Amino acid sequence: MPHRHSTRLRRTLVALALALLALVVAGCGREGSPPVKGPKGSELPTYPVAKNFTLPESPTWEKAKRRGHLVIGVKEDQPYLGEKDPATGVYTGFDIEIAKMMSAALGFPPDTIQFQTISSANRETALQNGQIDMYVGTYTINDKRKKLVGFAGPYYMAGQSLLVRTDENDIKGPQDLAGKRVCSAAGSTPYQRIQAEYPKAVLVAYDTYSVCVDNLLTYQVDAVTTDDAILLGYAAKVPEELKVVGKPFSEEPYGIGVPRGDNALRFALDDALAAAERNGYWKKAYDATLGLSGAPAPEPPPIDRYPAT
Ligand code: GLU
Repeated sequence: MPHRHSTRLRRTLVALALALLALVVAGCGREGSPPVKGPKGSELPTYPVAKNFTLPESPTWEKAKRRGHLVIGVKEDQPYLGEKDPATGVYTGFDIEIAKMMSAALGFPPDTIQFQTISSANRETALQNGQIDMYVGTYTINDKRKKLVGFAGPYYMAGQSLLVRTDENDIKGPQDLAGKRVCSAAGSTPYQRIQAEYPKAVLVAYDTYSVCVDNLLTYQVDAVTTDDAILLGYAAKVPEELKVVGKPFSEEPYGIGVPRGDNALRFALDDALAAAERNGYWKKAYDATLGLSGAPAPEPPPIDRYPAT
């Protein structure tokens, strides 16, 4: 009875998917294993808020001043980078710390930031239509995007990599993806790179990487591809189930997205990042968040203070 058989299989897979999702969301390993260490509020640095700061040449800053706080676009499902606690609504991670540092430098107390979750495909539109003042969420700086938005930074250098199940032995790098189902986020640079350079891979796109990871755990796809920093966070949550394989095969410099043409805001953020790298706050923030996924703090990449647009 192939029909009944496939229904049962599908039900089993759905049940498995839900159970695994619950594990990933709860941030614990298998039953009995200790919860994975995550950023704790008490260990996070606090950033001194700039007093009497003004930036009248920046329309974005002026708008935020009238409103009384910044509205910052972020991710909510990327462990150690930008993650929202579903119970408390609190966001944590390295990108969130960068956002808080920038808020403090612009004269707005970090606890007043209004975070908005925006997916990879919607970042440029959100900045263009004024829905957010800036975006801090694993956002690669590149020339194509610079035509649509502005970028301060970079503040971190990631590289594209691959996440597979621990029982996967065939996929060791992008050269092994022919005929394999590979999942990534719509509108992301890793998706575009696979499409352009590894056309034999069978690409699957979702709005978020966490949905890709659910699909990987339930054997709907064979690999998830995006930046190593993001994938290491998922692997750290369920190390018995998932592993990152091979070496990074791109450079993904993370920038802070701002409305294009708001050069005053962009340069102020470049200055604030440079100061945070000098005075140790950048490293403190890294150690308390992304550093927990295993890698010691790297040297931050040089800031690319490109001319006014
Ligand atoms: N850094 C890559 C990008 O900006 C991938 C991560 C993401 O989608 O946020 O497209």
